[in-house]
Amino acid sequence: MIGLEVHAQLSTESKLFCSDPNQFGAEPNKHTSIISLGHPGSLPRLNGKVVEYAIRLGLATQSEIAPALTFARKNYFYTDLPKGYQISQHEDPICLGGHINIRMPGGNKKIRLIRIHIEEDAGKSLHDQQPDTSLIDLNRAGVPLLEIVSEPDLSSGEEAQAYIGEIRRLVRYLGICDGNMEEGSLRCDANVSVRTRQETRLGTRTEIKNLNSMSNVRKAIEYEIDRQIALLEEGGRVVQQTVSYDDQRNLTFPLRSKEEAEDYRYFPEPDLNPLLIEKKWVSEIDANMPVLPWELLSRYTDDYHLSEQEAGILVESPDIARYFGALAEHSDEPKTAANWMLGPVKSWLNENHAQMDEFPLLPEKMASLISLAIDGKVSYTALQQKIFPELIGHPDSDPLLIARQMDLIQESDTDAIMKHVLAALDRYPEKVMEFHNGKKGLVGLFMGEVMKSTGGKADPSLANKMIVQELNKRKKDE
Ligand code: ADP
Ligand code: MG
Repeated sequence: MIGLEVHAQLSTESKLFCSDPNQFGAEPNKHTSIISLGHPGSLPRLNGKVVEYAIRLGLATQSEIAPALTFARKNYFYTDLPKGYQISQHEDPICLGGHINIRMPGGNKKIRLIRIHIEEDAGKSLHDQQPDTSLIDLNRAGVPLLEIVSEPDLSSGEEAQAYIGEIRRLVRYLGICDGNMEEGSLRCDANVSVRTRQETRLGTRTEIKNLNSMSNVRKAIEYEIDRQIALLEEGGRVVQQTVSYDDQRNLTFPLRSKEEAEDYRYFPEPDLNPLLIEKKWVSEIDANMPVLPWELLSRYTDDYHLSEQEAGILVESPDIARYFGALAEHSDEPKTAANWMLGPVKSWLNENHAQMDEFPLLPEKMASLISLAIDGKVSYTALQQKIFPELIGHPDSDPLLIARQMDLIQESDTDAIMKHVLAALDRYPEKVMEFHNGKKGLVGLFMGEVMKSTGGKADPSLANKMIVQELNKRKKDE
């Protein structure tokens, strides 16, 4: 049984309770006003954008939005917590319930959420920069977080990995978090317990702290499951504790025994009034929700007739989905447009280690490129191997002009192609006979001849049709 606590750092311009910039990678301790540092007498002021972002996520996960926002102090001592307490939410989280669906090879699975709440991040201790000293960077202190807590509905490392992937995709679509696990924008704690099939009560859990990559989430959970099962089978007992995962050695080790809520001496934050969340505000946010990945998925499969798998790749990141959406709109054949996205465009991105926004061609340009093949003006091969790379090098040029300059316009003038067809058939009268005797595969030979004599410029489907027609006509004439 696995329940995840996922922390998403919100991509607001400023911190949760002050105007310090919320920015990754700045010089250490630059974004540290008296509020971030918790100077006595300094007062927090709520960033409204954070509440809006939390509501967006709550609506997308079909959670119940609380009528009022209240904060609580969570007291504990730690070097990277300047105030000696963290402003969090305790009894009334902003979102209650809701769920997130994950897609697994065996089908979809619904993972229920317990709650989503708002809290501030702590600073960052750096223990590995100097041999005998720990350093502290408080730029992160006070950055807004959403904590998303699931029911223990996940049952494998693989499912947990899919779940965090789904959250990452969702927050990116919602535009509330960049989902970047390497930079710590998305982190997670995994609670793991095991029990026999007959058992109905939950087993004793351990909590693996601060997993910071998708694969570590999976590997740490798999390790912990095996460790607990082995322990129980030897007749031992799992101790409820907080553990850390060492990905170099692939094992977990204990950090501390588990704290209980009373250890934190929660009490209502006296420096912040409760904020009433009006229904009208929630409806406004609802009316302006960005499109969600699963909505696009069904649009692509229903309207564009893409397979689940094709559509799944296209909606993986909002940037790719946005590009494809624009391309499909400008294109007569969305299905062909999808093939171009999944083929040449994806390859280009991979080869250049590039993101979608670095792709040099605008969707309109890409659409006019593809239309050359749809209209039969050039062959798909010429388009992909010659015109596409040329256009990428000169993104402002006109694809048709390039096709003309490179002499790749396909011959679709029937009279012109007919001359080549007749010549090819005349050249091999014995092959024509063999065809009439049943060797239908010989059409390929004549195709090759026509392509050779036209320099590859004959529209292949047209040439094929004309060859077959002419062969059949000669049979009747015999
Ligand atoms: P805390 O705040 O002390 O970490 P919670 O009761 O809020 O504890 O639970 C946190 C997470 O732990 C949730 O995701 C929940 O699903 C999960 N969880 C609770 N009990 C178990 C258990 N026995 N096995 C696995 N996961 C559990
Ligand atoms: Mg916890």
